[in-house]
Amino acid sequence: MTEHTKTDGLPEVEAIPQVLERARPRNERMASDKIECNACPVLCQIADGRIGACDRYANAAGTLIRVDPVAMLRRTLECPDARVVSFADRPADWNGDLLLANEVFVTGVGASTTYPDYKPAPFIVSSPVEGVDMVTVVTEGIFSYCSLKVKIDTDRYLGPEQANVRCKGEVVGHVTTAEYGSQMLSLGGVHHLTGGSKKEGRVTVEMMEQLGNRRPVELTIDGGSQLAVQAGRAPIVNGVEERRMRVGCGSATIGIFAKQFYGRADEVVVVDDHITGVLTEHQAGRCLDMRASGLKIRGRKSTPGRYFQVANPGTGWGGTDIADPMSIVEGWDPKVAWPGLRLLMVSTTGEHSAWYELDDSLAPREQDMPDAVRRIVERIGENCEPSLTSVLFLGGAGGSLRAGVTENPVLLTRSIKQQLVNVTCGGAPAYVWPGGGITVMVDVMRMPENSFGTVPTPAIVAPIEFSMRLSDYAALGGHIDHVRSLEQVLVTGAWHNEGAPTGRRWLAPMPHNPWPLGQGPMLG
Ligand code: SF4
Repeated sequence: MTEHTKTDGLPEVEAIPQVLERARPRNERMASDKIECNACPVLCQIADGRIGACDRYANAAGTLIRVDPVAMLRRTLECPDARVVSFADRPADWNGDLLLANEVFVTGVGASTTYPDYKPAPFIVSSPVEGVDMVTVVTEGIFSYCSLKVKIDTDRYLGPEQANVRCKGEVVGHVTTAEYGSQMLSLGGVHHLTGGSKKEGRVTVEMMEQLGNRRPVELTIDGGSQLAVQAGRAPIVNGVEERRMRVGCGSATIGIFAKQFYGRADEVVVVDDHITGVLTEHQAGRCLDMRASGLKIRGRKSTPGRYFQVANPGTGWGGTDIADPMSIVEGWDPKVAWPGLRLLMVSTTGEHSAWYELDDSLAPREQDMPDAVRRIVERIGENCEPSLTSVLFLGGAGGSLRAGVTENPVLLTRSIKQQLVNVTCGGAPAYVWPGGGITVMVDVMRMPENSFGTVPTPAIVAPIEFSMRLSDYAALGGHIDHVRSLEQVLVTGAWHNEGAPTGRRWLAPMPHNPWPLGQGPMLG
């Protein structure tokens, strides 16, 4: 049995919190001022005025409450991003008009739940949308199978594929396949949450909560780099903030800028850890009928003008380990090259560049770069996008969570696959993976701030909502007896509030998110 460890009082919230239930001491041996939280299998015993191990539930004078108010999206709020704008028992202009039902969406953030879901979801909300009776089943899912996919826009070498990623010394994930212009990490997951030591699980879940809630996290990669990453911000690699995501690989850069180089340089090498491009040999140079330069480059030739493995990966030019671009030049064919040949060496981001001319012995001599060439290098940089860290939450909602929605869980899974149900996380659109189960993926930047929590099992708490026609909900065996109108919900809160007033915070929808209700297939 877990004893809560907090000694401070209830956290201040700006709203009256959700009541989970009016719990009682479980047995005679339990202190009379304590109640047992049954929201998750940890079953904290919480004394009056204290909070449980996950900081989410508290004992308020003998009543078990969810300390955070439930987050509700209100379409008509005019604010630039999702944030708390006010609290009131109901919207100031609420007049009972059901039209407002189209304007309000109850999210799973702060909604409470039980885990495993031995009760119907806390909010099963009906509202009419364009003449169709809709229902949204809202819960705070508890995900033991979940991970974060982190995309880091950089050429820099972060570490070998499959290398362990560590946080506070614990293994919390691994390096996975690089994508175009980005390095990718897979963090969290059930094996680190529950398959390792207790400390590994704790560090993993804390790291996931931090990243999910858009806070910075420091990571180290075995045999690789040190990272500071935060969703929506530039990554910091070995203490240096990344600025540019490359315009393309070396070959692509040659293709994009060949015409601009023509007549201004006799040879251009775009240094890249993936494909280093050589202009005169490349198809783009051939199309321009450029004279061969006789340059011999290191690495493995893939196709004309495209070279793999010119150097080792690293944090130097173009994601390689080189500091001197001439280190990848093997030499010049004296029958082809000529004194005075003009050579540009440049990286895929334009951050590194150098200009050379061959002397009489065909040795490259570095010279000042002509302005016209400098402007093209600057244009390569201009075409790079800002380097960002993107964090996607990937979770399996196919387990007991479905019992909060229906008595026949497979029907929910099937209905989602048939696109009868729209799945959102905190109102943000969720991609549902094909195949079995309900495996959802969502960009944390499209979710409300602080959407994620934890329980010490350990597992991640994340909002999830299922919206569908009321008739489809009935057909899939939904908890029809627990459906309540939006107006009722606004007055009384979660079903287990037993009529107590509910706390809520109003958020404006994220600007680019579609409104979660009324998506095509549901209404069509
Ligand atoms: S960890 Fe949180 S949800 Fe679980 S029993 Fe304790 S207070 Fe309740």
